[in-house]
Amino acid sequence: MGKKNNSTSTKAKKVARQRRAATNRPPVSPAPLMAAEDPWADLGVEDEDDYNAAWDDITATYPTLLNALEGAQAGEVVELPGHDDGYSLRQLVRTDDGKVVFRETLAPDSDVRSLVATVLLNHPGNQARTEAALTAFLLEKIPSGVPRGQVEVVRLPGADDALFPQLGYQYEADVQHLQRWDELGPALEAFDPLILECLDSSGMEVVTETFAELRARGLRAVQCELCQEPLTDGHPDWSGVWVSLGDLGGPSCEQNLLRGAGGVYSIMVPGPHRFAQN
Ligand SMILES: [Zn+2]
Repeated sequence: MGKKNNSTSTKAKKVARQRRAATNRPPVSPAPLMAAEDPWADLGVEDEDDYNAAWDDITATYPTLLNALEGAQAGEVVELPGHDDGYSLRQLVRTDDGKVVFRETLAPDSDVRSLVATVLLNHPGNQARTEAALTAFLLEKIPSGVPRGQVEVVRLPGADDALFPQLGYQYEADVQHLQRWDELGPALEAFDPLILECLDSSGMEVVTETFAELRARGLRAVQCELCQEPLTDGHPDWSGVWVSLGDLGGPSCEQNLLRGAGGVYSIMVPGPHRFAQN
């Protein structure tokens, strides 16, 4: 699955919204002015120009984390640059009890997303039970060391393609005692393994055993024996036909090339996926 490429306009609107909100804010107490510093720089995954530009915009609006926390306390939604726009949402938000927390919503790596989406599509009449089983599965995959009690599995309404339901992780951390942007990274360090797992497919590999694990939980998890892709018969455009999520034109298994009867075709055509019904 590809990245969305329309992040610039979305970000520009976001920043304009934050600037408008900031001008309506009462003056804040003097705070130490720090140079813009990406709290997640140590992860080595944030090297895109628009990501850095987004940080420049944030620190232009909120020179310090204290300023941003005060903004959030005043009811502003402060959105921080995510590692991949649309798949990671980082915010400072005021909760119902009046506390300001850092909240990150993360989509798992694309292989896991495809697997989860196909399983959800394969249970059209039983979404609540299916989501509960997938939630248990995803919670079990949280890397060790991450404070599990602070992580939950949520639906991702805006992630990827809205045609497919998506589940992801969300965690909240208390950051109210911090003042400077460079304090944010160390305060959230315990969650770095979860972020890395979501970014890197080697973190949580989707292999044949993963499908078996889901089937043991009573879920219809179907893998093509040839191309290894997760399959669904509940694709919105191909209901009743077993396809992978990328098969926009119908079943298209790259590992099952049809040669054509009697040499009629001059090119080889991707054929249906192959799997054992269970
Ligand atoms: Zn296949």
